Amino acid sequence: MERTEVAAAASGKAGGFLALDWCAGTPLDQLARRSFQLHATLPREIASDWAYQRMTAYSGFVVPEREAHRHAPAKLDWLAEGVLIAHRLGTPETTAIVHPRKFTAAIMSAAQSHGAELRPGQVTGMVRSADGSRVRGVDVNGGVIEADAVVIAMGPWSVMAAEWVHLPAVFGQRSPSIVYDTGTDVPADALFLEYHEESGAVVTVEVFPRADGSTLITAFSDQVPLPLDPAAVTPDASEIDRLQAICGRLSPMFRAERIIARQACFRPVTQDGLPMIGKVPQSEGIYVATGHSVWGILNAPATGEALAELIADGCARSTDLTPFDPIRLRPLDPWLRRSS
Ligand SMILES: Cc1cc2nc3c(=O)[nH]c(=O)nc-3n(C[C@H](O)[C@H](O)[C@H](O)COP(=O)(O)OP(=O)(O)OC[C@H]3O[C@@H](n4cnc5c(N)ncnc54)[C@H](O)[C@@H]3O)c2cc1C
Repeated sequence: MERTEVAAAASGKAGGFLALDWCAGTPLDQLARRSFQLHATLPREIASDWAYQRMTAYSGFVVPEREAHRHAPAKLDWLAEGVLIAHRLGTPETTAIVHPRKFTAAIMSAAQSHGAELRPGQVTGMVRSADGSRVRGVDVNGGVIEADAVVIAMGPWSVMAAEWVHLPAVFGQRSPSIVYDTGTDVPADALFLEYHEESGAVVTVEVFPRADGSTLITAFSDQVPLPLDPAAVTPDASEIDRLQAICGRLSPMFRAERIIARQACFRPVTQDGLPMIGKVPQSEGIYVATGHSVWGILNAPATGEALAELIADGCARSTDLTPFDPIRLRPLDPWLRRSS
């Protein structure tokens, strides 16, 4: 079920950056490694192009404009004076990228060719068996769609499902991004740059060139109310201007006339920052997969794989889902559920 369109929200507007081992030492490590491996094999299994590409990743910083001439030239020749590279963070063995909208759409089409059906409509509730013991389907547009298993995967809008089942809170964190048409002028170098604004604020700017010739740049996030309708997500004009001013400092490739999108999206975030993947407590047949925060494109494949195993076989074999069990988090209180 999709109420807007496939990849309408963050899954169509993310950077698409993937890393093998950047979650090492955290509960996400196994999920990330398995996902990175699946991202590498999926292009051979699915006949579609979503611009999967191995890349290099660097950290660095941008010195104030007035001081730029005092520093050695940028180590990457496509960058402007004053953009300094400090470390290599990833190599083509450990970092890669996809175009997230094309990836999401290709996976949906592949599922359809295996018998899945994509239906438009907004889910507004769960339908249970007469004794309430298990799920029987979902309410959609005034009708019922029968189901013996339901997965809640509505990104930050999963919070609405807390009205229907015992689900812990999910928050939305908005970030602006600008997409440039850079063609073949920008190589496959992802950048994570420390930038000192005139105001004194220090922000991390992320630059993601993709193999389809687009480059997405994002920075900072804010906590604004999530619009009820995913189609109503818009960027704040002043945040876009702020980001565009930063982009202009990074490279002559990021000129205003090359902009192809000014956008924003909400990352789904849980109380402890880890995703919720697994059975919804006290709800036989209902599952959840959300809260992937900054790694939702990376961790999508192993999440889908493990959840399919859990639903079909009763346990996930490919990835241990224990750290992501929703039971670890407190469900939203009923009065909060009504007001959220
Ligand atoms: C600026 C930015 C950059 C990012 N960069 C990266 C990156 O480089 N790498 C990475 O791994 N991750 C990145 N992320 C994170 C990633 O985008 C998210 O974690 C991921 O896309 C979340 O996917 P999702 O399917 O859970 O939610 P979403 O993509 O938000 O999808 C939710 C879907 O549910 C639908 N929906 C909502 N309510 C209902 C309903 N009642 N009935 C039916 N359908 C409904 C919506 O229409 C929407 O299509 C980034 C995020 C942002 C904001």
